[in-house]
Amino acid sequence: MDLGLSEKRVLITAGASGIGWAIARQFVAEGAQVLVCDIDAEAIARIDPGTGVMAIRADVSNSESVDYMFQEVQRRLGGLDVLVNNAGTSGPARPVESVSDDEWRATIGVNLDGAFYCARSAVPLLKEAGGGTVINLSSVAGLFPFAWRSPYSTAKYGVIGLTEVLARELGKHNINVNAICPGNVDSPRMERVFAMNAQSRGISVEEISAAVRNQNSMQRWVSVDEVASVIAYLCSPQARIISGQSIAVDGHTIATEY
Ligand code: NAD
Repeated sequence: MDLGLSEKRVLITAGASGIGWAIARQFVAEGAQVLVCDIDAEAIARIDPGTGVMAIRADVSNSESVDYMFQEVQRRLGGLDVLVNNAGTSGPARPVESVSDDEWRATIGVNLDGAFYCARSAVPLLKEAGGGTVINLSSVAGLFPFAWRSPYSTAKYGVIGLTEVLARELGKHNINVNAICPGNVDSPRMERVFAMNAQSRGISVEEISAAVRNQNSMQRWVSVDEVASVIAYLCSPQARIISGQSIAVDGHTIATEY
């Protein structure tokens, strides 16, 4: 199916690795012009220019850095049709009483402040383009309360709130806004999260990993490409009437504790 994304101007935050990189590759394959940002300069340097993905260093949790990024959006893309707010950090995996001020603020800062800063700067450009799409990466942790992940789970509930408010505010400008809620994605991040959880709980990574497979009806991990494909479809002209939704890409979550 032709998704009609050819020549669309797309900004993906935290796109130098993980899910963001899979989204970037998917959009390039559809003929879009893609700019990614990332906080990790080394990950940016590893991007092969031959892939067609443009990249800049920016920290979405810092509004000045986001202002700089949008100057680059104007300079390199000349406007914007799609914003994918993908940046998110997993935060600590510990009981709430041992979460520090800094851990709380840093997790909310990347996951929620970052989505707000980028949407605030993107909206005038999307309006100027006559419409467009905003995709916010929430999580299954934004649909179900995740114990031991209070900053992350709270931020991801907030991302869904932001999505619904923006959808209501921007629909009349032909801008649709949706949240994607991935389950456990086969990615380097989940290896880090499981290692943190295993250490905090005094159990093995293998025990956690086995339990996770039984957390969804499909009994397997989600791939980065499965997340990217749903996002590409939601940015296509065929999906313009879909807005204000939180779409789980999770194999149908049936448990969240492990
Ligand atoms: P990740 O942890 O692998 O990080 C991807 C990239 O984000 C890295 O290149 C990192 O340098 C960059 N980054 C971190 N902080 C940044 C900042 N302040 N500004 C700019 N870039 C920054 O993440 P991922 O697993 O690819 O997840 C992507 C999104 O999907 C996140 O919002 C995450 O919460 C969400 N999600 C992931 C999973 C999963 O299983 N991986 C599950 C549910 C939701």
